[in-house]
Amino acid sequence: MKPHNIALLPAAGVGSRFGANIPKQYARLLNKPVLQHTIDLFAANPRISQIAVVVSPNDDWFDDCITLPPQAAVYRVGGNSRAESIANGLAYLLRHKIIGETDTVLVHDAARCCLPQTALNRLLDALEQDHENRGAILAIPVADTLKRQTPNAPHIAHTVSREYLWQAQTPQAFQAALLHRALQQTDLAQITDDASAIELLGIQPILVEGDSRNIKLTRPDDARLAAYFLQNPDN
Ligand code: C5P
Repeated sequence: MKPHNIALLPAAGVGSRFGANIPKQYARLLNKPVLQHTIDLFAANPRISQIAVVVSPNDDWFDDCITLPPQAAVYRVGGNSRAESIANGLAYLLRHKIIGETDTVLVHDAARCCLPQTALNRLLDALEQDHENRGAILAIPVADTLKRQTPNAPHIAHTVSREYLWQAQTPQAFQAALLHRALQQTDLAQITDDASAIELLGIQPILVEGDSRNIKLTRPDDARLAAYFLQNPDN
């Protein structure tokens, strides 16, 4: 049987850099919470069979402002870091047999609500060709010149070559059992994305061209740009 594609959306953060008085995943963009946009974009893709949203056990907003489509469910098992929220969510889904070990889990930041369907489909196409079971992530080749700062002042220590450098985005997709094993074996405090945990097992995930519109809402200014992208979809 063909494995299913499961979207796992960590949404248990506080988003303090975003500056809103509620967590950024609940901030409204075009009259809809950021998280609702993200859930809806996965619900609109027929290649995604389930959507699992991970929120904090103390979350007071979800029930009031999010409408779940039939293929989605919420799990209140979020942790103290993004990696912990994902590890907890994935462990819960496997333990309760809500997903199978060979299913593919696409981890996607709730705060990346502008992911174009074209980019999501590119990732899903790559996963279908991933016969070695490496997993795959969306990323974009670095375009700017990179400077390494000196430790104690904002002075340039040296220029870092951008050759072969990519900026990681999400979704980051792996076989459920593999990601679970990788996260169990990793110091979760040390990783900032899911691929890092897989890399520590000696596996080299596939880089798939992402999209510059797939921004992660981080600072207040990002909201205007995200609203523009959402209003001008080209796919
Ligand atoms: O804070 P940052 O932008 O890195 O968060 C990325 C994603 O991880 C967001 O969707 C956020 O809600 C989620 N997160 C989480 N649990 C945490 C911290 C962040 O699910 N403890």
